Amino acid sequence: MVGKVQTLNRRMFKRRCVACGYDGALLHGGSAERCARCGCDLRTRPARSYAEMEGLIGHPLTIDAPMSEPRRQERFIHRWLTFLFFAMLGVIAIVYLASAAVSF
Ligand SMILES: [Zn+2]
Repeated sequence: MVGKVQTLNRRMFKRRCVACGYDGALLHGGSAERCARCGCDLRTRPARSYAEMEGLIGHPLTIDAPMSEPRRQERFIHRWLTFLFFAMLGVIAIVYLASAAVSF
């Protein structure tokens, strides 16, 4: 990522609706909740400038959106499956060591 972008073209830094390209005053510099032209929800799909879209300056893709419910459930299931996997490995190791100790 380029640290500091130097350009005289201010349009590079003007935030616009990523759905329709609207960059008028009703967008309030990207802080409006909905696009005035197309009605796009700017909280889930924030307005971005060309410099942000091209990665020339840093900007989060979403405004601290909480983790969606399906993603959270997916992580929860993944954690439980990982726990069950290692628990079964532990049980198998204990059974193996116990059978080895009994055989002597
Ligand atoms: Zn729009």
